[in-house]
Amino acid sequence: MYDKLFEPMKIGTMEVKNRLVVPAMSTLTATPEGASTEQLIAYHERKAKGGWGLIITEYFGVAPNVGFFPKMLGIWNDELIESHKELTRRVHTAGAKIAAQISHSGRETFIGVSDENLVAPSPYRDVSGEKNPRELTVDEIKKIVGLYGDTARNLKKAEFDAVEIYAAHGYLISEFLSKYANKRTDEYGGCLENRMRFLLEIVADVKAKVGKDFPVMVRLSTVEYVPGGLSMGETRVIAKKLEEAGVDAIDCSQGIFTVSHNIVEPMMLDNCVFVDNSAEIKKVVNIPVITAGRINEACLAESVLEAGKADFIGMGRASLADPDFPIKVKEGRLEDIRYCIGCVQGCIGGNMRGENCHCLVNPEMDREYELPENPAETLKTVWIAGGGVAGCEAAIVAANRGHHVVLFEKSDRLGGTWLIAALPPHKTELLTFVGWQKHELKKLGVDIRYNTELTKEMVQEGHPDAVIIATGCKPFIPPISGSDKPHVIQANDILTQKKKAGENVVVMGGGSVGVETAEFLSWYGSEVTIVEMLDDILIGCERETMLMHRKAIKDENMKVYKGAKVCEIGDDTVTIEKKGKKIVLEDVDTVVVAAGSKPVNTLEPELSEIGVPVKVIGDSKKVRNGLAAIYEGYMAGYEI
Ligand code: SF4
Repeated sequence: MYDKLFEPMKIGTMEVKNRLVVPAMSTLTATPEGASTEQLIAYHERKAKGGWGLIITEYFGVAPNVGFFPKMLGIWNDELIESHKELTRRVHTAGAKIAAQISHSGRETFIGVSDENLVAPSPYRDVSGEKNPRELTVDEIKKIVGLYGDTARNLKKAEFDAVEIYAAHGYLISEFLSKYANKRTDEYGGCLENRMRFLLEIVADVKAKVGKDFPVMVRLSTVEYVPGGLSMGETRVIAKKLEEAGVDAIDCSQGIFTVSHNIVEPMMLDNCVFVDNSAEIKKVVNIPVITAGRINEACLAESVLEAGKADFIGMGRASLADPDFPIKVKEGRLEDIRYCIGCVQGCIGGNMRGENCHCLVNPEMDREYELPENPAETLKTVWIAGGGVAGCEAAIVAANRGHHVVLFEKSDRLGGTWLIAALPPHKTELLTFVGWQKHELKKLGVDIRYNTELTKEMVQEGHPDAVIIATGCKPFIPPISGSDKPHVIQANDILTQKKKAGENVVVMGGGSVGVETAEFLSWYGSEVTIVEMLDDILIGCERETMLMHRKAIKDENMKVYKGAKVCEIGDDTVTIEKKGKKIVLEDVDTVVVAAGSKPVNTLEPELSEIGVPVKVIGDSKKVRNGLAAIYEGYMAGYEI
């Protein structure tokens, strides 16, 4: 089973033991100077131990302060070379190959420190840019070409197995390649031959400085998905030229930052969504081709290899969700795999909030260095109230440490509100996490009491050593005139199909739940208007997910009122107030409320009264997203 995934293959002179690649992903855990930290090394080492064939690091800047994020790896002096040697040593010891990506972020360079490096082929910013970049002179271009080679030479000294030139995603090299960003009229602009010149000069410089036997890969955005952006026709030519120039592999991605949902695909995009792009590249080159993009299961990865659409499978977020994915596949332990659900809350979402990269389904990720195995010193009886994802996570971690855990769930199933969150279109993959938790609980022999609500009396009688409260939250209806009318329905009742909406629906609340419910209703044929009190909808939603929701709102012709308050709900009207002006929405047959939820936690004060140690986690403490709830569940189990 999955034989192809485990066939070794060479990239140039580098033999990779299987086809499973961790592509470059920012962790933001380097030191401010660009050195590898214990946190960063432990993160990569963990994956190497999990069986990944090739790990590609986040980019090394060709000079200080040329990153998209304020922190990046650097290797421009001997001290830095030494710090990265420890990284390569530990990854090699654990059995994987490690390549380093090299980049200059061009017009996407972070400008918090200085805008000196905000440079581009042409002096124009992208839609998402804040400031216009400075146009590079030809002398400056030549200098930057040399910096790529210098960086590659130092990476070789640090004992990396290969380098990857980052020519994708709207950073400097791809800005030169693309008509979207390159408006020059000299030898570096205009026709494709000219736009490729910068990249080909870099390849030549790198190869001259690392020697012909050192593997060099190039990451390309095969299609940029912006008007005038790089097309497949152009990328086929670029790939062929790179092969002729001695490049050893093409790593295929797509998109640029402005359309970043094509780079880090949220759950709304299909699995294997961009595989056909790699297949096109594979048709024109004889060197290995790496693909990526929502490939999160072994069967999907194997099918891509079988179909000959790529030679290696980049599974970045799958590796965050479960660093042991390769070993588990190899040993046939598919049920043990914790799948990436495409939520983007922890990984790119974390980075965009200026935090380290985390993973919603794997709270240990990026914390490997500070969360060693932690068997309990004193075994306790731990009771957990609530079998939602936070409670289940606490139960798994506590039981793994040796505690005797009893999980009380008032309904007949585990998952809590997560089960409802999985109901909107394109969110079904959330359920794989509940499935994984159930499997782990079973393996660990956790005593699960279904249809049982934990009470103070039960605690008084059973004397557990500790209680974790994870009783979740419940939605509320704001006290608005008319909100008690029968056609006013909670979003949850729509999603669970307990109640049916009519043809003309007003959704109160433009957060994630409101917008997802609006999309659900549109799919079932309703005309939908969203009313949001805040100045914008989807506040707090990750960029990639938000881009997809905005597209759906546009495609479905939904009306949106922002900065608008619902004042009154009539029999077939909804009166809203926007900028002091009243607007009456007419012919409304259903009002759907998605105005937030409140914690449910009646047990804590009762147990505190009788002196039982209690920890409150997840939504029962404060209503937030899944990332926070599951992390708290993990830590409660880890610390108890
Ligand atoms: Fe996947 Fe979400 Fe984890 Fe990111 S945070 S790796 S999208 S499960």
